[in-house]
Amino acid sequence: MRILLVEDEPGLVMTMSDRLRGEGYEVETAQDGEAGLARATSESFDLIILDVMLPRKNGFDVCRDLRQQGVSTPIIMLTARGQVVDKVVGLKLGADDYLTKPFEMIELLARIEARLRRAPAASVHSYETYRFGLIEVDFRRAEVLREGKVVELSAREFQLLRYFIEHRGSTLSRDELLNEVWGYNAMPSTRTVDVHVAWLRQKIEPNPRHPRHLLTLHGLGYKFVG
Ligand code: CA
Repeated sequence: MRILLVEDEPGLVMTMSDRLRGEGYEVETAQDGEAGLARATSESFDLIILDVMLPRKNGFDVCRDLRQQGVSTPIIMLTARGQVVDKVVGLKLGADDYLTKPFEMIELLARIEARLRRAPAASVHSYETYRFGLIEVDFRRAEVLREGKVVELSAREFQLLRYFIEHRGSTLSRDELLNEVWGYNAMPSTRTVDVHVAWLRQKIEPNPRHPRHLLTLHGLGYKFVG
């Protein structure tokens, strides 16, 4: 399980990352909001711990931007003591949980475990890379290569492709894809799924008009064959 810790207080970064690594988590850190946003949109994490008071871009803005860009990784926000209003704002912007500073590490660990248990069972990190047809998907770098050349995918397209690969061979309904890939704080229609599948086909299929990997099952949904 890979955690991104976005926090600017060096002492806290050290204490938290030591403890989290001790619990077996892989921890990456970012010391300001912009760096945090950049890492969270370009790499895949299982969870993000996001401080509110950060240099360059505050935690609320980072959280909002992540959700707007389709990153649905669970976020636990760290707020200062007494910032009751902040908690409400954070949850509205798409954070999943919050913790008030100062907190006990044991409390943070409990919240992390609770969040990760709710995440989909099939983790991205079952693979580091996955190959099919002309395509190689690098999950660590959130990158897709087609015959060795980088294919530009939006964050949502990448999440959708990842979900297909994790559930390859299974029939996936549009509703399931909406729930699992778009998640709780978006309200797109099932048509959105069709549009994104069409875009993905343009990028990964040898012949998008006659898909070999992203198959339509009429009346049922889609199936990925890789
Ligand atoms: Ca701070």
